[in-house]
Amino acid sequence: MLVAAGNEGGFRAAAISWRCRMALKRRMIAGIDDIEAVTFLCSTCKARTTIPAASLIDVPQQCTACNSEWWRANEFTSNESTSGPAGMALVQAIRTLMAMIQEGEDRFRILLEFES
Ligand SMILES: [Zn+2]
Repeated sequence: MLVAAGNEGGFRAAAISWRCRMALKRRMIAGIDDIEAVTFLCSTCKARTTIPAASLIDVPQQCTACNSEWWRANEFTSNESTSGPAGMALVQAIRTLMAMIQEGEDRFRILLEFES
């Protein structure tokens, strides 16, 4: 940010607002191996199912609270546009990347950045 000489008041105001923003926002960067658990939120009943990363196998097939179906096996051979295949691919990718990190075989790391 360029501040003209003699515009000190404006500069101070800008500095104060910058400090305020910094106080409110903290940057957080997380690696795949920092994921401790994955939570699935049911779109129907809003119930949450949390699975520890170490126990992560698949996207649950249905909500444990209302039994609403989240994905079907035949979705993977058809072109149905539900969130099942994409969610499954993400969970499988997390598992694979975590295993590669543990074995030191990863050639690059994916970091997830959050604003809190
Ligand atoms: Zn549900």
